[in-house]
Amino acid sequence: MPGVKSSDIPLSAFANAMQQFDEAAAKLNLDADLLEAIKQPRRSLIVKLPIRRDDGRLEVFTGYRVQHSINRGPAKGGIRYHPKVSLDEVMALAAWMTWKCAVVGIPFGGGKGGICCDPSTMSSHELEHLTRRYTAEILDLIGPERDVPAPDVNTNPQTMAWIMDTYSMHARQTSTAAVTGKPLEIGGSRGRVEATGRGVTITAREAAKNKGISYDGATVAVQGFGNVGSITAKLMHQSGCRIVAVSDVFGAIHKPDGLDVPGLIEHVKTTKKVLDFPGSKRISHEELLSLDCDILVPAALENVITEDNADSIKAEIIAEGANGPITPDADKILNQKGVLVVPDILCNAGGVTVSYFEWVQDRMGYFWDEDEVNRRLELVMVRAFNDVIKVVEEHNTSMRIAAFMLAIKRVVDVTLMRGFYS
Ligand code: NAD
Repeated sequence: MPGVKSSDIPLSAFANAMQQFDEAAAKLNLDADLLEAIKQPRRSLIVKLPIRRDDGRLEVFTGYRVQHSINRGPAKGGIRYHPKVSLDEVMALAAWMTWKCAVVGIPFGGGKGGICCDPSTMSSHELEHLTRRYTAEILDLIGPERDVPAPDVNTNPQTMAWIMDTYSMHARQTSTAAVTGKPLEIGGSRGRVEATGRGVTITAREAAKNKGISYDGATVAVQGFGNVGSITAKLMHQSGCRIVAVSDVFGAIHKPDGLDVPGLIEHVKTTKKVLDFPGSKRISHEELLSLDCDILVPAALENVITEDNADSIKAEIIAEGANGPITPDADKILNQKGVLVVPDILCNAGGVTVSYFEWVQDRMGYFWDEDEVNRRLELVMVRAFNDVIKVVEEHNTSMRIAAFMLAIKRVVDVTLMRGFYS
């Protein structure tokens, strides 16, 4: 359109997810009707949630639960609380979950949920009411054999405990496997809180090996310092990487000779922000993304690396802790520059993998120690990384397209095996 810059058009995460699918599917020579049958979300539910706020006001929130696929097993995926949650975003996140579970070979489909709200302005009491009402509204969809929620942005083990309790009250029995990412005392798995960051660390290490970069001493910038970003920073720091910059929603900090990550985690516990960490200097969000470092870990939200800033990226590896941080246009620019992008559906799959372990342990009623969980996670992540690299080499394509190809093929295989009920 004349006079309209691409940056003026709002980016649709779902359109991006569909574009990634189409690009990978085109390389597989599969029947177009079959692809159509697995591409779109299977069902999407929109719910209204009237909540009495602490000051007596009634406020109506909107929530979503989308099941993209249940072909390989129950739907699986997190629940996000954020003011920008929309059906478009939840559909994209649900689709990425389908491909993610297939890439790491765990027996789940893909789902996602979210509530459009600003949790930073809500009390714990209000959040509990919102969570319980949301759970009651999506009750027909969820359950250990149907669709199993987990934490995502601004939700945590406490949120999962409320969901598990609400589900169980309606089922008239304690049903721990209805949700994952729970506190340990009520059926959570050891290692779950750290699992996504651990998976990012493992795949970034494998990517460094692949690129011939020494992981020990590698310089790293991390965008987002929540569950995924802070734990990735902590584990990479423990592995000898130098974490030179981190950010959160309030701002970014830089220390070229490396941040003391355990100290920073304590600072964030007290001040709730990374800013003003002693010895660090403030930089802008954009500066963090374009820092001269070996590994960049976007671990916040979607669409942060676009065609407008992709060319300024200097990192040799991008490990996608977040879902959908790079748009398809930006991907092309990064590929041309030779940046190795470890795609979200592989890179951050450690979380859903240990969620699967949690679900397995809940159903057995027998719990593994943390070493056992981490050992199994390492095996799954390294195997998936190598599976993707094999497709990269066979088809001379990017890791993202290779991961999608692998995942689509796995979903197609079970879809054909099951046949079509009509
Ligand atoms: P979180 O709520 O724990 O943390 C999000 C972090 O991002 C916070 O530090 C927040 O301040 C920061 N942030 C938000 N907007 C920002 C901005 N514009 N610039 C810089 N920082 C910003 O969420 P999380 O669970 O760590 O999830 C982060 C990403 O990882 C999401 O894309 C999520 O879908 C993905 N993910 C999470 C899990 C999981 O197990 N939690 C698993 C797989 C993928």
